Amino acid sequence: MSRLATATIHLDALRHNLARIRDMAGEAKVMAVVKADGYGHGLERVARALAGADAFGVAAIADGLRLRAAGHDQRIVVLSGPDSAADLAEMRRLKLEAVIHHDSQLDWLKADAGEPLRVWLKVDSGMHRLGFPVERVAEVRAQLAAMPAVHDEVVFMTHFAASDEFDNALTAQQIAAFRQATDGLPGPRALSNSAAVLGWPAARGDWLRVGGLMYGLSVVAGQTGADFGFRPAMSLATRLIAINRLKAGQRLGYAATWQAPEDMPVGVAAIGYGDGYPRSAVSGTPVLVHGHRAEIIGRVSMDLVTIDLREVPQAAVGDAVTLWGPQLPVEHIADQAGTISYELTCGMTRRVLFVEDDG
Ligand SMILES: *Cc1c(COP(=O)(O)O)cnc(C)c1O
Repeated sequence: MSRLATATIHLDALRHNLARIRDMAGEAKVMAVVKADGYGHGLERVARALAGADAFGVAAIADGLRLRAAGHDQRIVVLSGPDSAADLAEMRRLKLEAVIHHDSQLDWLKADAGEPLRVWLKVDSGMHRLGFPVERVAEVRAQLAAMPAVHDEVVFMTHFAASDEFDNALTAQQIAAFRQATDGLPGPRALSNSAAVLGWPAARGDWLRVGGLMYGLSVVAGQTGADFGFRPAMSLATRLIAINRLKAGQRLGYAATWQAPEDMPVGVAAIGYGDGYPRSAVSGTPVLVHGHRAEIIGRVSMDLVTIDLREVPQAAVGDAVTLWGPQLPVEHIADQAGTISYELTCGMTRRVLFVEDDG
C-alpha cells in the first residue's frame, strides 16, 4: 500500500488566484510562473487551472516541452534562457521564448540563422544575480535588433531582490535604475514578481510575472497569501497511526530532545522529512488533528512525526492530521522551520500521493 501522506491540490483556488491577479493587474499582462513543477503543485494540473494566463514562465526547456505536449499554445518564457547554442533550435521548435542575460547567449544568437526567436532582455537593476548591467542595456538592445534570429519585439525585464519589504529603498532604486536604463528604448516592460504586485504598484509595467500568489503563497513577513485575498492551493495531510501514553519525565524521539512534563498522550503520524515535511520544524509547530489544533513535539524523523495530544484527548488512530492547508497556513509552518512557504511546497517527494480537488 502507498503511504498515507497526501497533497491535495485545490484547482478552484488556483483559478481564484489568477482572477485576483487579473483584478490587480489592470492593463498589464500576466505570466503565471510554473517553474519547479508549478512550485511543487504539479506542472500539468497547475497549467490546466491557470490556462487563462497570458504566458507561462518556466526554468527549463523540458518544462516547456511538457506544456506543449499537454496542448498549451500560450507564450512560454524560459526564465534563464538557453544554456547552449543547441538549445536555440529546441526553443524554436517548441516556440519557447528566451530570457537573454549573458554575452555567451548573444554569441549563440549571433551565429544562429533560424527563424526569429522571441527574446526577453534581462537587466540587472541591482540584484546582481543574472542580467546585463544597466550601462550596457542600450548597446545589447541594438545588438539584438541587428540579429536576424531575434524577433523585432524585445521585452525588457528585471527582477527584484527585496520587494517583499514594502519600505526597502533597494526596490525603489531598482525601479529607477531600470527606468533609466530602458528610457526611450522600444519594447514592453516586465518588472514585478508576486511581492511587487502587492507592495510596489509603481513597478507594474506591461507584464507581471507571478509565481507565489498564484498558489496562494506570500513571502511578506508576518502575512499569509490569505491576508491579501488569495487562497492556498495545497493541503498536506496524513493520518495518526499510533497513540501512546508517555509517563512524566520520559523522553521522546531521536536525540531525546523532548521530555514529557506530565503523563500524556502522544500521537504518531505517518509523515516525515522523507515526504518533504521539514526536519527543521521545531517542537511547537502546529498541526490539526481531526480539525483541532495540536503541536509537533520532538524531532521530525524520516517517516514520522510525533504530536502532543493533551489538547485533543478524543483523538483516535486513523484520524486525519493536517500539516498545512486553508485552515493552517503553510507560511506559519515555514516560519517554524526557518524557511519560506515556497521551499515547503516545492519539497514534496515522490512518495507523496497527489490528488486534485476540483470543488
Ligand atoms: C520565480 C520568478 C518569478 C516569480 O516570483 P514569485 O515571487 O514567486 O512571484 C518572477 N520572475 C522571475 C525571473 C523568477 O525567476
